[in-house]
Amino acid sequence: MDYIGNIIRPPSEAYSMIIQVTVGCSHNMCTFCGTYKGRKFKVKDIDVIKRDINEASRYGYNRAFLADGDVLILPNQTLLEIIGYVRKRNPQIERIGVYANTKSIIRKTAEELRELKEAGLGIVYQGIESGNTEILRKIKKGAFPDRMIESAEKVKAAGILLSQTVLLGIGGIESSGIHARDTGKLLGVMSPDFASALTVMLLPNTELYRDWRSGKFRLPDKFGLLEELRTMIENMHVRSRCLFTSNHASNYLPLRAYLPDEKENIRTLLDEVLRLKDESLLKPEYLRAL
Ligand code: SF4
Repeated sequence: MDYIGNIIRPPSEAYSMIIQVTVGCSHNMCTFCGTYKGRKFKVKDIDVIKRDINEASRYGYNRAFLADGDVLILPNQTLLEIIGYVRKRNPQIERIGVYANTKSIIRKTAEELRELKEAGLGIVYQGIESGNTEILRKIKKGAFPDRMIESAEKVKAAGILLSQTVLLGIGGIESSGIHARDTGKLLGVMSPDFASALTVMLLPNTELYRDWRSGKFRLPDKFGLLEELRTMIENMHVRSRCLFTSNHASNYLPLRAYLPDEKENIRTLLDEVLRLKDESLLKPEYLRAL
């Protein structure tokens, strides 16, 4: 396979055929993200993509994921050709997924998103990180809550599953409470099919890491992060069923619950962990290595 650089994929795509369609991320500005630093965004040659699809098609995958950072930015014609080829070579494929940022979703018309859905695009993974405007500005996310809401509505209206991620700790100690509250509220308004809370990791090649080293950014401690998680869930009033998880490798306490039905269960669990403040209940640091 012609894989260039770091290939990342959502945990739920662990058993998917991974086809690298773009290299890097078209935005590549987020202060916490080191995945594609120093790598220029480019679209791979269609013949190389098809060669990889041919190679991977020998293994009978049920799902496919098109990497890297922001595949939805591609023109629909290109995406339809790639998705069509994946399905032609793999008639058994049940779902095709991509990462997308808010801008790339907004740029698509409702009709284009419907075309992609009909062609086989089944799920879009979108990084939200925070629901607080000031924090989003600081981390250079390139999108604000109003546009995020608009993008979520567009994806859902097209019948494509929406999976969103947020980052515990990204507001630092100073904005921890407001980050958790606003993020929970925003997730509630958007009501994605899936929502995951990851914990911010301080990666040496990032601006956030430099801010942390200089003392400008201070990360909440383990229990501070769990407080955030609790506040987030408390404020998340979903309008439709949402599978909420915090089982990413970066997290201290893995959770998995359907909201709103199981909200009370996880709230009770978090209250208990926060009351006991017993570190042996949390994932040890060495298991959080990504
Ligand atoms: S949009 Fe995603 S991949 Fe791109 S820099 Fe931000 S976090 Fe990283």
